[in-house]
Amino acid sequence: MSFSNLGLSDKVLAAVAATGYTTPTPIQEQAIPHVLAHRDVLGIAQTGTGKTAAFVLPMLTLLEKGRARALMPRTLILEPTRELAAQVKENFDKYGAGQKLNVALLIGGVSFGDQDMKLSRGVDVLIATPGRLLDHTERGKLLLTGVELLVIDEADRMLDMGFIPDIERICKLVPFTRQTLFFTATMPPEIRRITETFLHNPVKVEVSKPATTAVTVTQSQVSVGREAHEKREMLRQLLRNAKDLKNAIIFCNRKRDVAVVYKSLQKHGFSVCALHGDMDQSARTAALDQFRKGELPLLVASDVAARGLDIPEVSHVFNFDVPHHPDDYVHRIGRTGRAGRLGAAVSLVSPADQKSLLAIEKLIGQPITPLENAPVLSAENTPSDAPPRTERGSDGRKPRREGGQRARSGRTSKPRKPDVAEIAAPQTPSFGRAPIPVAARDHHSEPADHSHLPAFLLRPIRARG
Ligand code: AMP
Repeated sequence: MSFSNLGLSDKVLAAVAATGYTTPTPIQEQAIPHVLAHRDVLGIAQTGTGKTAAFVLPMLTLLEKGRARALMPRTLILEPTRELAAQVKENFDKYGAGQKLNVALLIGGVSFGDQDMKLSRGVDVLIATPGRLLDHTERGKLLLTGVELLVIDEADRMLDMGFIPDIERICKLVPFTRQTLFFTATMPPEIRRITETFLHNPVKVEVSKPATTAVTVTQSQVSVGREAHEKREMLRQLLRNAKDLKNAIIFCNRKRDVAVVYKSLQKHGFSVCALHGDMDQSARTAALDQFRKGELPLLVASDVAARGLDIPEVSHVFNFDVPHHPDDYVHRIGRTGRAGRLGAAVSLVSPADQKSLLAIEKLIGQPITPLENAPVLSAENTPSDAPPRTERGSDGRKPRREGGQRARSGRTSKPRKPDVAEIAAPQTPSFGRAPIPVAARDHHSEPADHSHLPAFLLRPIRARG
């Protein structure tokens, strides 16, 4: 199957060819002809399946005919988060480069004035988050009566975020005769109800079972104790030992923990950024950009903030917390193993997480096996998240500790504490270097040892003094 058999226009086919994609993904192959035939589509697909292009490409073809009128967008796409909305806009910019279309983004954190000006010029494609869209309609600066096609993307996430009442209001503001494309990764009862109310005789396109995980992702678990510092120590060990790690997303269940884990990793010298719902728009965009470009290869994130982000080639996902909702697990690990690439997902499982883990295994229909050569933390674990004080040699590197022995810190005022975190040396060398057991850290005097971390995971060291 090639793109040329789907009914797309020559302009759109040229744009697709320019991106280098030769074969449509299953959702594209199945959905595009129906969208072009003006049918309503219910697409059950996760991110990573190519679902964005499955609606962007046929929309671009349909929009070649006709013109936009002031204040009356021709098509409307609803996204749960600002980041997703921005990514869909990028898709229009990429595939629609040869077309003179007005594409506008209505998201929070951007001034109303600029958005009003764009709307008044006439918009072919309006991409919006529900709240901001309703703000505009209520101010009388936007009319939805000209919408010919409505896309509701990531509907199950909209449900999680409490946007369903907004979606219902918006659906009533657009003409009854519009075409609707509805995408969701899962079909909980509330979503089924919405599809029955707002879709007309839809074609159902399901590309994989709602809760299957890519076969290219190696999923595993490691046991950890209840203590948060123990989990952080385990996370560091996992990061140090991970095979073929290029970049990773570390998921936490709570925003507060995103901040704690981020700070902890930073203190330990890792190149890390964070993404959570409380960050302002510019901070989120900056973090995401740095992660995408590989400047900061580790991203600590919450589910809401990271949902559906188009980050190609994430090699690893770490679940710092096991998610409470099994669907979130599927979404999280959908960040890796995309488009047939290999990926790894490791979950840190404390005794309290067993129930959630069982629910996940039931949903995905397979057991999550213990990680081979998992680091072993000693029972006597003490907090070790204090800022490391780095003592560096003349080459700017910290003296290297060997064999789990503590380096002499020269400070003898405190009695020596037992080693807190010795790991069994994994049999698989990581990053082409033999892993070095991490010795104990007395959190007042002992600096973190980064000497065995691959350079790209390390933060640049500022000159001291
Ligand atoms: P999505 O599911 O829309 O988030 O897309 C996931 C990733 O697949 C994005 O990085 C797309 O650029 C990429 N992609 C979309 N369509 C294709 C295709 N036909 N062939 C290869 N990659 C694609």
